[in-house]
Amino acid sequence: MDTKKYLVPLSGLALAACGGTVQEKPNIIYVFPDQFRNQSLGFWNEEEYAGAVKWTADPVKTPNLNAFADEAAVLSRAVSTCPLSSPYRGIFLTGMYPERSGVTLNCMALRPESTLNPDAVCISDVLAANGYSCGYIGKLHAEVPMKNDPANPGHYVSDRDPEWDAYTPPERRHGFSYWYSYGTYDVHKDPHYWDTDGVRHDPHEYSVKHETDKAIAFLRNRDGERKDGAPFFLALAYNPPHSPYESLDDCMEEDYELYRAMDYSELYVRANADTTLSKAPAARYYFANVTGVDREFGRLLEELERLGLDKNTIVVFTSDHGETMCSHGTLDPKNSIYTESFNVPFMIRYPEKIRHRIDSTLLSTTDIMPTLLALAGLEKEIPETAEGRNLAPVLLGNGESCDIPSAALYIRNLDGEKDADGMVHGIFPEARGVKTDRYTMEICIDRDNELKRVLIFDDWNDPYQLHNISWKENPDLFASLCEVLEDKLEEADDIWFREGIMDNLSLNHGVHNK
Ligand code: CA
Repeated sequence: MDTKKYLVPLSGLALAACGGTVQEKPNIIYVFPDQFRNQSLGFWNEEEYAGAVKWTADPVKTPNLNAFADEAAVLSRAVSTCPLSSPYRGIFLTGMYPERSGVTLNCMALRPESTLNPDAVCISDVLAANGYSCGYIGKLHAEVPMKNDPANPGHYVSDRDPEWDAYTPPERRHGFSYWYSYGTYDVHKDPHYWDTDGVRHDPHEYSVKHETDKAIAFLRNRDGERKDGAPFFLALAYNPPHSPYESLDDCMEEDYELYRAMDYSELYVRANADTTLSKAPAARYYFANVTGVDREFGRLLEELERLGLDKNTIVVFTSDHGETMCSHGTLDPKNSIYTESFNVPFMIRYPEKIRHRIDSTLLSTTDIMPTLLALAGLEKEIPETAEGRNLAPVLLGNGESCDIPSAALYIRNLDGEKDADGMVHGIFPEARGVKTDRYTMEICIDRDNELKRVLIFDDWNDPYQLHNISWKENPDLFASLCEVLEDKLEEADDIWFREGIMDNLSLNHGVHNK
């Protein structure tokens, strides 16, 4: 079949006649469970996939994701540019780096400056303006909690201190006309949501199941969830397998049963895991939620097919960041450059347009928005504010030229100064790094902008990142990676570039001899 005739840019048109047939713009479903690491996709241990990564995957049961992978382009090296909930969401929605999206830190009441810029052009703004019905289901966590509880105006929606959860009023929903969401709230079996009209719902059931039911209702469209006959964009943001992962309150018992009898030697198969850490019991519950997500994702796909929508729907499965799960001796699941945190699942299925294969493209979070818009035929509508690359030509393999990334930037920000009331002002850009075809490097500074630490890993020969290559003893390698990093920092107009942080390190420490 000649697929080229379906690739006519459809800018501004809902329908276009192509070769005698009528081809609608594709629907897009973007599913991103929180903290779902790439290593927890069971298919990486299957013969076809195992050669594409040099590490062993977790002993997880993910039959639906495995089947989906067989129909998708599976990116082995996609990364989360700033692997933390809120900054990721800001980047995904806007295609902008955190300093421009507005979401620099995890959003909460004591960080009033970290919030999605109300004027930022989001992927949903563009799609809505081009005829799409847009729906958001699940965890948003991209704006500062405000005193705007619809049931109790002038108050926060929760009494937790400091405030984390948030209600998003219609004027801040960026083109999403269907809403069933919350800010952040980590009780997996007692979630709550505010709907399009601002009404709160407490369904008292497993959030992944509940949100899938809502997504299925959106697909069926029996109650006007979306505009009939229009293409749709659905963002589905499950919270699991995010923590907590401590008890049967945190997952479904049927899923836990699959892992209950496994001991640490079976659960922790990665060479960098330390099962003496206090976190070690978490794996069973984490994997249970991985399987819970798998089951519900499978149910969603089944309904998509039953409704006959699968052929013209782009489905993405990814995550906002990974989960270290006892690797590298850290209890912090995310916000680090280690592969378990920085690398994320990224699978994209677009029947008859994107062929199944394993693809090693270094896709960054900034690239997602422009790429999806281009796949929807809206390349000309990609806003100038988007800072990532349109990698649609790579995914489509249609021969169009494309600027393929040779490296991916890593960003870690921490709180800036705190005032007497504990309010955070500005950011402390603690670390920047890059992943290249072969290496991972991170440079970390202290609050006096002095060099604190350099990490360099050879991901070809040391996939578990067990051996930090000495930058002092390998000056040529270090200099070449610094050059790559400096180029990425400049491209991103990052604070490290603007404030000359690398140059200052060279003055003080001879880190860099450019
Ligand atoms: Ca997260």
